[in-house]
Amino acid sequence: MALTDDQIERYSRQILLPTVGGKGQEKLLAAKVLIAGAGGLGSPIAAYLAGAGVGTLGIVDSDAVELNNLHRQIIFSTDDIGRKKAEVAAERLSRVNPDIKIKPYVMRLTSENVMEMIRDYDIIVDGTDNFPTRYLMNDACVLAKKPLIHGAFFRFEGQAMVIKPREGPCYRCLFSEPPPPGSVPSCQEAGVLGALSGVIGLIQATETLKLILGIGEPLVGKLIIFNALEMNFRRVKVPRDPNCPVCGDHPTVTKLIDYEWFCGLKKSDYVE
Ligand SMILES: [Zn+2]
Repeated sequence: MALTDDQIERYSRQILLPTVGGKGQEKLLAAKVLIAGAGGLGSPIAAYLAGAGVGTLGIVDSDAVELNNLHRQIIFSTDDIGRKKAEVAAERLSRVNPDIKIKPYVMRLTSENVMEMIRDYDIIVDGTDNFPTRYLMNDACVLAKKPLIHGAFFRFEGQAMVIKPREGPCYRCLFSEPPPPGSVPSCQEAGVLGALSGVIGLIQATETLKLILGIGEPLVGKLIIFNALEMNFRRVKVPRDPNCPVCGDHPTVTKLIDYEWFCGLKKSDYVE
């Protein structure tokens, strides 16, 4: 697939990079990335992957834009309030880059639909903000052997890790059990500095681009923790746990489970 003159111009500043070049740009245009969640993480992830020319971007989100989203969810505007995030994201990013395919999915990922959703994608990026979906995505990606880019944030601190099944640890190697329900307040209860979600989202976007291009050292087996108040990054080595219930030597989780139950949440008091 040869690049057109327009593509060479559009992507010239990254084609210039010695490890990218025209061949790297072709890889990006051929790549298919699914972004779960178009919120504080998903917004900057989607914006930069679209700009970079990732050829197919799937964006899954069931929510509508709310006024209190706008301090961090940078791809939405005030007049988008009330509209579905996935659809607004697709429209907005198509204007940024009409060269790529953007597929909005107005839905929630569940044990029933996640395997089919991730099947057609090369890399999955987790931009969701709740534990049931985080464990669901982890288990689904381990079972399907798909790379997953984890990211999470809380108040002034955030973290990211690349999960490459068989090559490194998964999220359950790090946290085998979810925290007891109610022990970790949500963003809605605890607040978050909007710029922090941007930092974490862009670490995830950068790791996604590196994986597609096959350059540098991916964050496999290393959890990066960013503290905005101290303005420092810590990198913690995470070994694969041989007793991990999903990616260990004798896994006990061999198919998807009920993650709301696993996280101790009943459907009725579960708010995404
Ligand atoms: Zn594991």
